Amino acid sequence: MKFRKICKLLSLVMILALICMNGLAQKRKTRSSLEKLPNNIILMIGDGMGVAQVYSGLTVNHGQLNLTGFKSIGFSKTYSATDYTTDSGAGATALSTGNKTYNYAIGVDKDSVPCKTILEYAEEAGLSTGLVSTSSITHATPAAFIAHQPFRDDYEAIAADFLKTDIDVFIGGGRQFFSQRKDQRDLLKELRQKGYQVVFSMDSIQNIRQGKLAGLNAPDHNPAVVQGRGDMLPRAAETAINILSNNKKGFFLMVEGSHIDWGGHANNADYVAREVIDFDNAIGKAMEFAQKDGNTLVIVTADHETGGLVLLDGSFEKGTIVAKFATTSHSGTMVPVFAWGPGAENFQGIQENTEIFGKMMSLLKLGGVTPNPQE
Ligand SMILES: [Zn+2]
Repeated sequence: MKFRKICKLLSLVMILALICMNGLAQKRKTRSSLEKLPNNIILMIGDGMGVAQVYSGLTVNHGQLNLTGFKSIGFSKTYSATDYTTDSGAGATALSTGNKTYNYAIGVDKDSVPCKTILEYAEEAGLSTGLVSTSSITHATPAAFIAHQPFRDDYEAIAADFLKTDIDVFIGGGRQFFSQRKDQRDLLKELRQKGYQVVFSMDSIQNIRQGKLAGLNAPDHNPAVVQGRGDMLPRAAETAINILSNNKKGFFLMVEGSHIDWGGHANNADYVAREVIDFDNAIGKAMEFAQKDGNTLVIVTADHETGGLVLLDGSFEKGTIVAKFATTSHSGTMVPVFAWGPGAENFQGIQENTEIFGKMMSLLKLGGVTPNPQE
């Protein structure tokens, strides 16, 4: 009897010990996965890319998108300081500075005061920085990460702001705003004097593996995929990653798929779907690197939705969609946020667009800035 009792007691103690150890291990596991911080962030902005845009690309591409590999998914509230429906200037400024501002603002707050961008904070901390876009590199979305201007349309002033920074890589259109200027400044020459390799064709851009790069492959915007842009965006994203990843301290890169928005403005669902697929190919390049690297967080989101796109019918087999648009402008709906890599779980749930800035800043340990959600 006594022996049985001891056995019972012993097994009880062992079970309790096992439960305790298991709990400790669990605790350690969650803590270590929370503590893992990325060295690099690749922020990918599909301009005007709402949920229906993503789904149109997924359908037309027969159910295949790199985006389907993302497990941390949330939503972003895109309204600006002045409007329920934002423009790309205020939308990108929210992501780049953590401030809700007025529509058409570029890197300034609602009182037109310049706000430091995450790209500028990253530079200051010794990280490498880059911007890639299919549009002119001076267009609202890339501009909001590097320039500080009261209005988005002043492309020449925005181009001049590039010279005030030490950005390592930028690839996109907009050459004319650097070279044919009212003030007669030759910004291409000034870029060369600052040590940039200034190149104009995608082939020569893609050959560059290190140093500073100003890749301006079109006088203004690059054309749409259906008008012959080819794989410029995935190639440009890959080139930027190649160069920026030379810096072991880390990097911040923003890649924009600009034309998704323009397909929405044109109420052309096929245009939208083709651009989403192209943007997704660029996402594939980012994920390829992130998977190899292990220290890279990839975030894919939008500044706003464009067109109020609704999918009424479609076929994954045939790759066709039947769509309607509610507007030729932007809509105020939430947009998706996809995140992959260390810190990705922070982007789940419904969040302010400004919070995405704060989360990226704290994950890269930049500027001591805390998230700045605004009601
Ligand atoms: Zn737009």
